[in-house]
Amino acid sequence: MTFESLGLNPAILKAVQSAGYTTPTDVQAQAIPQALAGHDLMVSSSTGSGKTASFVLPALEGILAARGDNTKRREKGVVQGPRVLVLAPTRELAMQVSKAFVTYGRDVQGLRVATIVGGVPYAAQLKALRGPLDVLIATPGRLLDHLGSGQAVLANVQMLVLDEADRMLDMGFIDDITTIAEALPEARQTVMFSATFAGHVGGLAQRLTRDPQRIDV
Ligand code: AMP
Repeated sequence: MTFESLGLNPAILKAVQSAGYTTPTDVQAQAIPQALAGHDLMVSSSTGSGKTASFVLPALEGILAARGDNTKRREKGVVQGPRVLVLAPTRELAMQVSKAFVTYGRDVQGLRVATIVGGVPYAAQLKALRGPLDVLIATPGRLLDHLGSGQAVLANVQMLVLDEADRMLDMGFIDDITTIAEALPEARQTVMFSATFAGHVGGLAQRLTRDPQRIDV
């Protein structure tokens, strides 16, 4: 298996090659084709397995595929808010995911990525949320604050990613995640990553995904 054989856009392939990757990891080889085919996913894989690229690359493909007409509509303010929403348990993980979007998306022209985490002033976040946006990466609590004050528009999210879903539930984010998910279109792709899908996280997966493919690496 090679990255070329995954059928990625040349702009994304180039960035992956510049990062020095030659072969997809197990989770990438399994998740990327399924995600590109539009399936919902429940993925169990550990940190260090390359799971970040396994959702960042398909997310960037989706953004590129929606470009063209959509860019003009976004510039005119017809389409607002991000196309991709990633929820992560901690500031550190959110920052890592953000970095991955910038690295793999470096040849995606005008890619707009915002990161919204707790413990920092609201002002800069409000500015980022009001501008045109392709990808929003957030911790659930702070995103919920912005949603409650009407500052975050999530009506155009086409792909939801829950990274380390079990950890988010351990941290007590279940209600926040449920409320955020209710603000998203039902017709979307949902990709969940979790060390386990037992217990509450399995229940959450059942509520948020549709006919998910299960990947265990
Ligand atoms: P992650 O599990 O997403 O945190 O990734 C762990 C580390 O593996 C990161 O430093 C990535 O840059 C690196 N990595 C991800 N995919 C590949 C790959 N296909 N080949 C080599 N390194 C990779």
